[in-house]
Amino acid sequence: MTKKDYYNIVGVDKSASADEIKRAYRKLARKYHPDVNPDDKGAEAKFKELNEAFEVLGNQQKKAQYDQFGHAAFQQGQGGGGFQGFRGFGGGGGGGFSSFEDIFSGSGFDDIFSAFSGMRGEETRRSSAPGADLRYDITITLEEAHSGVAKKIQVPRFEKCGVCKGTGAKDGTAKETCDKCNGSGQVRQVRRSFLGQIVTVGMCGKCKGKGTIIKTPCSECSGNGRIKKTRTIDVEIPAGVDNDSHLRMAGEGEAGMNGAPSGDLYIVIHVKPHDILERYENDLYCKTTIGIGQAVLGDEIEIPTIRGKAKLKIPSGTQSHTVFKLSGQGMPDVHGRGKGDQLVKVVVEIPKTLNKKQRQLMEEYAVESRQSATVGKGFFDKMKEYF
Ligand SMILES: [Zn+2]
Ligand SMILES: [Zn+2]
Repeated sequence: MTKKDYYNIVGVDKSASADEIKRAYRKLARKYHPDVNPDDKGAEAKFKELNEAFEVLGNQQKKAQYDQFGHAAFQQGQGGGGFQGFRGFGGGGGGGFSSFEDIFSGSGFDDIFSAFSGMRGEETRRSSAPGADLRYDITITLEEAHSGVAKKIQVPRFEKCGVCKGTGAKDGTAKETCDKCNGSGQVRQVRRSFLGQIVTVGMCGKCKGKGTIIKTPCSECSGNGRIKKTRTIDVEIPAGVDNDSHLRMAGEGEAGMNGAPSGDLYIVIHVKPHDILERYENDLYCKTTIGIGQAVLGDEIEIPTIRGKAKLKIPSGTQSHTVFKLSGQGMPDVHGRGKGDQLVKVVVEIPKTLNKKQRQLMEEYAVESRQSATVGKGFFDKMKEYF
């Protein structure tokens, strides 16, 4: 057995919570999973090592033993002599090996069983694999994100078979406890060697580790206990939700095997870009143009908001690129912490062509301005100081 640090292998601190350990384990397990790296011996070794580490750290009792005694607590099982100690960690009836279930319960992907068991030269043991997590992508408009929206989505998933209630046994016929392993799903063999007593524990071949045998399989699900169904699920998208937000619907993933918990459903929300309004955090931005007369004389204009139109007062003498704020007209905070604002940038458009009347008026204006020297006075004063 290796003397590597299990915490290092899983990549967590000694102070990590059970949840953090599980999360770190799952992340690495996905990375080094033999299905992902079919020909990579290094990854396979890492995966083995990772599972060995998690077998201990993922089990409260074993973790405590490891924290106190280190690897010494687990080496007894290898060379015999003190197998009692190893058996002690298993927590009773199932023996030391029963902890393999702990590794995978809540791991969220049931195919890991086949790969892991395969490496050990055993048959697939799927007796209590939890259901897989599912992902569903949904696209909504900015208006829907603003108000919140209820959506119905169609999710194809494995559900518990309604006919056999997930047992896999034909209606009315019960599962029978496997007589070979007495329901434990495991068979133990004890032999003596010069090192002492060696115990090997393997999966029961008769029930394939399930501990029970179905005499007559359910015809609806062929004894799987699960059936593929497309389910309509109501999704409540909260007001203020932003692009790429995730919504977790606990237990709405695929049904687990043999009563194991279902996976979760993750809704990934995409917000379509709006024609006019742009979101930054909880504020909305837009740009509008006004004429030179409106900027100089002032006006009241209509601007689009997320809830329709609003009036915006342009004061006389408004400079181009002035930003006006419409308080509280932005997006609501998804956590209920108030609302953003709408910010309107006003750009003054200088006309490129003028009709005869406009030209005449502009010329008069120009002459008038020069005489009264109100335009750019400060600038010309500064120029004079230079010369
Ligand atoms: Zn069934
Ligand atoms: Zn059995």
